[in-house]
Amino acid sequence: LKANNARSLWHPMTAPSDSLKNPPAIITGASGVKIRDIDGHEVVDAVGGLWNVNLGYSCQPVKDAIAAQLDALPYYSIFRGTSNDKVIELAEELRDFFAPDGLTRAFYTSGGSDSVETALRLSRQYHKIKGEPGRIKYLSLKRGYHGTHFGGASVNGNANFRTAYEPLLPGCHHIPAPFPYRNPFNEADPAKLAQLCLQALEDEIAFQGAGTIAAFIMEPILGAGGVIPPHESFMPGVEKICRKNGILLIADEVITAFGRTGAWTGSRLWGVKPDFTCTAKAITNAYFPFGAVMISEAVAEVFEKDETGKAAIGHGYTYSGHPVGAAAALATLAETKRLKVNENAAARGAQLFDGLKALKDKYSVIGDVRGGHGLMLAIEMVGDRATKSAPDKAVPGKVQKVAYEAGAMVRVSGPNIILSPPLVITDADAAVILAALDKGFAAV
Ligand code: PMP
Repeated sequence: LKANNARSLWHPMTAPSDSLKNPPAIITGASGVKIRDIDGHEVVDAVGGLWNVNLGYSCQPVKDAIAAQLDALPYYSIFRGTSNDKVIELAEELRDFFAPDGLTRAFYTSGGSDSVETALRLSRQYHKIKGEPGRIKYLSLKRGYHGTHFGGASVNGNANFRTAYEPLLPGCHHIPAPFPYRNPFNEADPAKLAQLCLQALEDEIAFQGAGTIAAFIMEPILGAGGVIPPHESFMPGVEKICRKNGILLIADEVITAFGRTGAWTGSRLWGVKPDFTCTAKAITNAYFPFGAVMISEAVAEVFEKDETGKAAIGHGYTYSGHPVGAAAALATLAETKRLKVNENAAARGAQLFDGLKALKDKYSVIGDVRGGHGLMLAIEMVGDRATKSAPDKAVPGKVQKVAYEAGAMVRVSGPNIILSPPLVITDADAAVILAALDKGFAAV
């Protein structure tokens, strides 16, 4: 195990130059907000699993709920005529949680990619029921990430996640993201840039023909694409354009839901009411693979009032509504609200953002730091600040490795270091992350 010369395991999402991972750190234990490797080295997990361990690794109420549910009902399907008590209870809780976003119904899935697939499919079906079968295309943002299924991959905005798998779904078009540091308009002012991107969206809709488009999908804050918060005018602008053109709005909140941004949902951060909100990841604090697509009452009614038979849902997963996942989600949601983790996310996020800005002043290899909305932060490294050239290939991995040795696991994604720690970190944990990064940058 230590030598990791086993050829039996294929790791997902590798890059040709993967760093810390060669050999990979073999994680064998975790507690609180820390993870421990096979050599007994313990560090603060500034990745938070994979944006999903919001409550840390020692969440007793979730463990208890899972154990109790395994005894009561470990599984039964909710296909075609059966249900279970836990999924109904959870749907009621989720309805209350998402009510301010205008979302009242839950469709269960097994994870983020499934949630995206569900929203993409149901949005096409919605238009078919309404007599607009020509609405089959999807629009999304460049740099957006929407998972690994063919539908999600087709709307992914990063070509690296698409090209190896083409041909993908036809009719998917990607709009420039409002990213002040890098954009095709050379516009650094966030408000002006938001307007330019909204205009690009209008232009694309006009070019494609509004009546051909089923839905627009976006993350309220781009996550895997490098943590890029849009200007506050952007998502409300998208919502308005969608409404005007009869296009459904899908919020992909697989990362942003449940407090990570400081608000309870990313859509609420921007005051937007989507038609679908995709969730997964932190919904069970990562203790069980599970997801839910939240659906607006208006969309649900179109399905329910259809008498032509078109509304039958030929879509669902074996583990849609898994009772153990639902029990885990119920306990997670209760703890999430009880601890008001969104408030701590906002406070610790501000502390980390200030710390990252100070690191930027200190190290010229840092071209941009991004944050300001809870515990989603990124550092973008460059070779040269003036030209924003790519950093030396070895740099991100070296920073990560030294930071790991100094007490914090951070994530490398291209030229970015991404931070998404548990929402329950203390100010001392945040200080450890910053000190570890300081050492990492000092080493390069
Ligand atoms: N959407 C977003 C915004 C994501 O960040 C991810 C995963 N990182 C997904 C969808 C896919 O989720 P999963 O990996 O659980 O399938």
